[in-house]
Amino acid sequence: MTVKINLSPSSVKTWLGCPYAYALDKVVKVPRWRRVIAPYMHTGRAVHTVVEHLSQAPELTAEDAMRELDATFAWNVYADRLEAEAAYEIARRRLSDWLAAPYGWGEGRILAIEKMLRSPVREGLVLWGKPDLVREAADGALEVVDHKSGQVIPSLEQLRQDPQATIYRILAAMHWPNYQEYRISFSYLATSEVIPVTCTDEEAETWWDYFLEIAEKIRRSLRRAESDLPLDEAFEPHPSEHCAYCTFRKVCAFQER
Ligand code: SF4
Repeated sequence: MTVKINLSPSSVKTWLGCPYAYALDKVVKVPRWRRVIAPYMHTGRAVHTVVEHLSQAPELTAEDAMRELDATFAWNVYADRLEAEAAYEIARRRLSDWLAAPYGWGEGRILAIEKMLRSPVREGLVLWGKPDLVREAADGALEVVDHKSGQVIPSLEQLRQDPQATIYRILAAMHWPNYQEYRISFSYLATSEVIPVTCTDEEAETWWDYFLEIAEKIRRSLRRAESDLPLDEAFEPHPSEHCAYCTFRKVCAFQER
């Protein structure tokens, strides 16, 4: 029987970056308290939550945004008060930048906010994702908006190769068929830059094949682990400069060695 594999944008990225990190996440299911969650991830989560709430508000005010931030911001997840204050300041700045040009708010018809989307099973693979916002844009296209709170702005070509854009494109076309155009808009809060990514049905099909190949490789690694191969041999570690930021660096056997 084919083992069902669920792939989200982040699990594909984890697998591509380091199969062993994927195994620690999805096979071992390392508990949250043993993971190292980078401070910027907490900050990004707080900003996303506030933008998500504000996207549905009939009007936008700085006071409402800051009130939402105060209700959402988790002061106790940072190493100390100074780090927390710096993170709060970044979150406050990102929100006021967004309020100056609130992409995703006020135009078109909202179809979903933070809605879990899943594909039907295809050859043992399910794709899933939770985009920030899906709307029918003013020009009639089906648009998925994904807000980014980091500083780094990738190129269009990098985003076209990003599994997140493709998985959202595949899921949007499945859940809201019959649109002439599907657009994935990456909205960078730090610069108010919006980079739209589109792909054709043929390109989406090619990506499906690529994700099916990844699912098959994961199954092969799972079979190796089941035949008593150590996990870090069944799922090969790919150590790189990213280890310094890896969520699993405290429990990584490779790091211990
Ligand atoms: S610390 Fe490095 S080698 Fe270990 S799981 Fe993370 S990315 Fe892979």
